[in-house]
Amino acid sequence: MDTLQRFLFENAEVRGELVEISETWRQIQALKDYPGPVRTLLGEMVAAAALLSANLKFDGMIVMQMHGDGPVRLLVVECDAELRLRATAKLAPDAAVDASAGLAQLVNAHGNGRFAITLDPKDKLPGQQPYQGIVPLDGDSVAGVIENYMMRSEQLETRLWLAADRDVSRGLLLQKLPKEGGSGAPAGEEGDTWNHTVMLASTLRREELLTTDIDTLLRRLFWQETIRVFEPRHPSFQCSCTREKVGNMLKMLGREEVESALADLGQLAIDCDFCGRHYAFDKVDCAQLFAAETPGDAMQQANGVRH
Ligand SMILES: [Zn+2]
Repeated sequence: MDTLQRFLFENAEVRGELVEISETWRQIQALKDYPGPVRTLLGEMVAAAALLSANLKFDGMIVMQMHGDGPVRLLVVECDAELRLRATAKLAPDAAVDASAGLAQLVNAHGNGRFAITLDPKDKLPGQQPYQGIVPLDGDSVAGVIENYMMRSEQLETRLWLAADRDVSRGLLLQKLPKEGGSGAPAGEEGDTWNHTVMLASTLRREELLTTDIDTLLRRLFWQETIRVFEPRHPSFQCSCTREKVGNMLKMLGREEVESALADLGQLAIDCDFCGRHYAFDKVDCAQLFAAETPGDAMQQANGVRH
């Protein structure tokens, strides 16, 4: 079972999370056979999205996007407050992915790549817009990019260790907690737990992260520390696509565009990028989509006549 484990070091200066995602990750990859380096990036983002979602305790959807100007055009992962995930990657049409390519080469080939995190609240007030933070893609790892983001946007010192292959996506997050009032710690000792835990975690090699379950990792890394462990949580796969949302997308294209495509194709077939669900809209379906807008259109026409 996919698991996310939160824990707290006893003096409460540092908190951490470990996540292990395999079944969800398998479902995410079921549709597409990504080149190895793309799979690694997307898998690391999947682990990171679950870690951040549990870390920020935000009641809504976290959308993590990397917009690229190289072989990879877009990497997107969405995670809601229940740790339900979906993710997909879009490659450039003529993409050639070098087997050893890293993040910079894949997503930031011309220096125009950017990383965005959108926090979309579950219960929005009328007119409320989702919050979006965008940072440049400095660094050559998903972990580095997110660490920068957390520092800039949340003012939280955060370190991440991420790894993914075809079978599993795993990640470790450590975060230095802001001090509440005076700590009482003697001068010079502040930050000691933080530096110490980061040093312990930095012994973790990518191969070890890929091949070791999170219970073992937690024991192996921090066996000398006093740790409080919380109730584990379980990430899962879920796609939020619906026929209604696809219909809305067609409406945004506009009646003219849709009718012209219908004339060429007979019916419109749309496959969800995230889950592969197939949606078909024939002439009758499309007429119904735009029929719902008729009162507005009629009003416009009436106004047109009046002028
Ligand atoms: Zn879907």
